[in-house]
Amino acid sequence: MPELMGAEVICVGTELLLGDILNTNAQFLAQELATLGISHFYQTVVGDNSQRLKDVVAIALQRSSILIFTGGLGPTPDDLTTETLADCFRVPLVEHPQVLDDITQKYTARGRPMSPSNRKQALQPKGAAVLPNRLGTAPGMIWAPRPGVLIYTFPGVPREMKAMWRETAVPDLRRRGFGTTTIHSHMLRFWGISESALAEQVASFLALQNPTVAPYAGQGEVRLRVAARALSTAEAEALIAPVADQLRAIAGLHYYGQDDETLASVVGQLLQAAGQTVAVAESCTGGGLGHLLTAVPGSSAYFWGGIISYANAVKVDLLGVDAGDLATHGAVSEDVAKQMAVGVRSRLHTTWGLSITGVAGPGGGTPAKPVGMVCLGVAGPDSVECHTLQYGVHRDRDLIRHLSAHTALDLLRRKLLARE
Ligand code: ATP
Ligand code: MG
Repeated sequence: MPELMGAEVICVGTELLLGDILNTNAQFLAQELATLGISHFYQTVVGDNSQRLKDVVAIALQRSSILIFTGGLGPTPDDLTTETLADCFRVPLVEHPQVLDDITQKYTARGRPMSPSNRKQALQPKGAAVLPNRLGTAPGMIWAPRPGVLIYTFPGVPREMKAMWRETAVPDLRRRGFGTTTIHSHMLRFWGISESALAEQVASFLALQNPTVAPYAGQGEVRLRVAARALSTAEAEALIAPVADQLRAIAGLHYYGQDDETLASVVGQLLQAAGQTVAVAESCTGGGLGHLLTAVPGSSAYFWGGIISYANAVKVDLLGVDAGDLATHGAVSEDVAKQMAVGVRSRLHTTWGLSITGVAGPGGGTPAKPVGMVCLGVAGPDSVECHTLQYGVHRDRDLIRHLSAHTALDLLRRKLLARE
């Protein structure tokens, strides 16, 4: 069957519309369709309501040729995907004896009686093939109710849906001639540059067709997704590599890693390669920097620990910050940030000391030291420096703390690269 209009994912469930659950099925299927290179132009969410589901099907048939449903295959009266689809094409439901056997066996194996309503799950529109469900009771279906239309149904339970998709639906799609190309992508990650600045520098790449380059931004990080469509992953990689190389060259030190890499994992790799270690002294991030560093498996090789010096007394007693300097310059100052970094470095005997002291807000700001002012200190073998940042525009305590901890890692990353 030629791919006429692409796929549409239709998720059925009132819970989704009420916001009770996140539509992770749609995300999974979207990623899978992209990997298979199957065009996917629409997603629909509809409640457990027969008439509205019919309306959704009518619209989908005008614009999509592969309709992929999740949810509403269970035994309860509000599970009405199967019967509604049969109704849409005016086809009767027929009982599949082997499905009924399978459901009966699953209930027996679990030591639970099968209720009469479960019998409903053995019904499928006449002409549909069963899409077996290894992990649960409700099977789905594969159905071509008329030429140019292909329907797959899956239960809502993500674990069951994913297994069925991989084990049966994908092979079925490939047999039908879909998914012969693949879309493969890499996410390039940048820190320390704004989305607009990066987009300007790489403007000529944003018009490319294969691979495509698309910018994303969020929480201080900017990303470029480089995606190629090809017959194989290797071929896609070959299309992506030269473009990714050029993008990295343009961005210089602002590029820090790709795909699953984080600032903390990249810093970890650099420290390990150099045989060096780091310790942290945190005030306004309250351990957030240590949390990021320890989120990386194997971080014990280079992260010694930290001191959460929230109170001034702790800055003095445990980090050796000068009480006079604290009184003169205040806790949020370059002097104190430097002394915190030097103090934690010497007390924990590490190559590097990182420190963070700032006004996370919403209270506590003054004209001289407004909310969002953060001092980041880096003490190393031959120098100590401090960077003062103003994150006040965000007016968001969580974001200010997030940006502070990540930027501290970014400072160390740049220092480590400079020494390489
Ligand atoms: P069951 O036989 O378990 O009733 P079902 O096919 O009827 O399966 P639903 O009742 O619609 O499926 O959903 C079952 C559960 O699966 C929901 O409670 C929810 O936790 C999860 N679920 C349903 N739809 C989605 C979705 N789109 N994304 C993520 N989870 C979902
Ligand atoms: Mg259900």
